[in-house]
Amino acid sequence: MPHTERLYYLDGYLREFSARVLRTGPDARGGVRVYLDRTAFYPESGGQPSDRGTLGGLAVLDLIDEGDQVAHILAETPAEESVQGAIDWTRRFDHMQQHTGQHILSAAFERAGGYKTVSFHLGTESSTIDLDSDRVGARQLEAAEELANGVVFENRAVQISFRSAEAAQQLDLRKPTYREGDIRLVEVAGFDLSACGGTHVTSAGGVGIICIRKVDRAKSVTRVEFVCGGRALRRARQDYAILSEAGRLLSSGLETVPELISKQAQELRDAGKSVQKLVGELAELEAAQLWQQAPEKAGVRIVQHVFDSTDAKKAKIVAHAVAKQTGSIALIGVKGTPSALFFSQTPGGKANLSDIMKQTLAKFGGKGGGAKDFAQGGGLPEDQLEAALNFAGGLLP
Ligand SMILES: [Zn+2]
Repeated sequence: MPHTERLYYLDGYLREFSARVLRTGPDARGGVRVYLDRTAFYPESGGQPSDRGTLGGLAVLDLIDEGDQVAHILAETPAEESVQGAIDWTRRFDHMQQHTGQHILSAAFERAGGYKTVSFHLGTESSTIDLDSDRVGARQLEAAEELANGVVFENRAVQISFRSAEAAQQLDLRKPTYREGDIRLVEVAGFDLSACGGTHVTSAGGVGIICIRKVDRAKSVTRVEFVCGGRALRRARQDYAILSEAGRLLSSGLETVPELISKQAQELRDAGKSVQKLVGELAELEAAQLWQQAPEKAGVRIVQHVFDSTDAKKAKIVAHAVAKQTGSIALIGVKGTPSALFFSQTPGGKANLSDIMKQTLAKFGGKGGGAKDFAQGGGLPEDQLEAALNFAGGLLP
């Protein structure tokens, strides 16, 4: 079967074309592989995803670069031998912007700091390039971004040409090529020369703005996430909407949002500390009150109390506070899901609270444990708390 003539090699702006079906065959995923004499569909390669569109009125589900041929994956075989192809142009042009932007940005990093691009990925939301160093600083990132956008603003020509492999090896390519046969070259005038089979805009202005979005440093690699053109516009719009909403919630202008968030976070931390301090003080008072009213058994005051779930923070403090009094035991329950139990006694008291906790939980359900003078548990049904504390009280020496 003859080579598929790749129309996008010479004209990346070709959106519709006619072709002949040369052969069809089954595809492993259940569809049909359709081979044409020529195609404008781009099959995934070199980091750029496959095109979509229609062929003979049928949706093109995927494309596979088989070397000499391009396989078009369709759900069924086209009815006619002569077919019309139509490229999903929104998707394709977006890929052209991101891909050409990548050439320019990669060349800019090489010029700005000698960083080489070791891989490229064009994603659905953003794209990434990996640079061969983990020492790409903020200044170099800004310099490369500035340089790349300068090339866009100058609207430099992006030209396609072909050379033999021998001739191409003599050229100063950004990345050496090891391909054989005719080599397709993409040149951003006076800035970048690369061997590439992808689709590109014809002048740098078509890329639109190039924005670095995120930087991740790993061992000897820096991953730079970026967006170009239409994607940059959409992201800028999203950023503006998010920032505007933050400004509205803070009743402030956009510029003062970070300052106000930082101030409010500090206020929240301070308020949290105050609340904690007040809860502690309140718990101490409540512990004293409960202790006053608590009955004595064999010279030991036993504080038994069930708190509501809203008082969970207070309960444990009360248990500890009671145990600070001489000759005292606290049997505290807290409602909620899960429920909680805190048993404590004045250090050196006669009871073994760890043991009593285990027996109580064995009878009423739940999990827990602890030491002789302090044990905690929970997870038993909250309507059993009162009964559980009575049971535990009955186990005291
Ligand atoms: Zn390219």
